[in-house]
Amino acid sequence: MCLSSLASRIPVRFQEPMRFWNTWGVGGIAKAVMPITSESALAEVRRASSDAGDRLFILGEGSNVLVLDGGIDGWVILLRDDPSPPEIVRSWGNSVEIRVSAGYPLRRLVNWSVRRRLSGLEFAVGIPGTVGGAVAGNAGAQGRSIGDLVSFVRTLEVDGTFSDWGKGDLTFAYRSSPFAGGTSWVTSVGLVLSLSSDGLVRQRLRHFASLRKGQPKNSRTAGCVFKNPPGGSAGLMLDSAGCKGLSVGGAMVSREHANFIENLGDATSDDILKLIDICRSRVRDQFGVNLELEIKVIGDGAL
Ligand SMILES: Cc1cc2nc3c(=O)[nH]c(=O)nc-3n(C[C@H](O)[C@H](O)[C@H](O)COP(=O)(O)OP(=O)(O)OC[C@H]3O[C@@H](n4cnc5c(N)ncnc54)[C@H](O)[C@@H]3O)c2cc1C
Repeated sequence: MCLSSLASRIPVRFQEPMRFWNTWGVGGIAKAVMPITSESALAEVRRASSDAGDRLFILGEGSNVLVLDGGIDGWVILLRDDPSPPEIVRSWGNSVEIRVSAGYPLRRLVNWSVRRRLSGLEFAVGIPGTVGGAVAGNAGAQGRSIGDLVSFVRTLEVDGTFSDWGKGDLTFAYRSSPFAGGTSWVTSVGLVLSLSSDGLVRQRLRHFASLRKGQPKNSRTAGCVFKNPPGGSAGLMLDSAGCKGLSVGGAMVSREHANFIENLGDATSDDILKLIDICRSRVRDQFGVNLELEIKVIGDGAL
């Protein structure tokens, strides 16, 4: 079976501009884009591709990627917008373990847990994307990250079989997980949250939301471009190196937060890459630090 044969049942967009499928709004044409919400459809696609040898890329909401202007010579599977709500698996003492699908939006999960007085995810307020994307990149803020809460992960492998990962199999580090390579696709996740009081959970939510005030809103970005170097802040270094407001083509380093690059409307990936190079060399010259990318560069020509 080949992927095209699934097109009668699963909607496929052939020769699709990737700029419609990431928050930066840039990137060339993909051979095909397949939005998928369910685990069973995802398994069908993976099995079909392993039979036919098609190249597959997995994305959620595309809020942490830079898709190159050369596009993607392969099928992009978008695991997102899964409407199935999280379920409570078990609880003991104040701890509550939930299971949530990888395609479920992270912001909805934060709201879901706050409504149930479940504490733990408040740090994630304001982080766009899917649960799967968050776990693959170990998304976090203010020294907390989703990996700290993960109790199990179910993944779909290249041959279409599922693997179950227990806590002991999982090693998360700063913005990295065992799933970052794109081989094992996260399909569902267990998280352990703590039952708290309504007032406390909402207070923590407001606290974390207030820490985001200095970030650009209503502009097209992919969050922080660079990782913080050990013991330092990429944003502060970029700011002190005079990067705020620098621009190339339609891309500009945010005037509000130097670690964000905004698409002013007609930016290309190439503009963003050139700006990244300029920022990186300014920080290298001033601090002797080589900033590493937090965003993932994907597409033909990406390393
Ligand atoms: C305004 C703004 C603020 C942000 N703030 C933060 C922040 O505070 N902290 C933070 O960590 N990030 C932040 N981000 C970045 C981004 O939102 C997160 O990294 C998010 O978790 C990415 O989820 P996604 O579904 O969009 O992943 P995508 O961007 O679609 O994918 C990112 C990577 O994960 C892989 N991936 C996606 N889904 C899966 C899956 N199911 N299985 C395996 N691999 C998968 C992709 O192949 C890709 O390599 C911000 C972004 C924006 C635009």
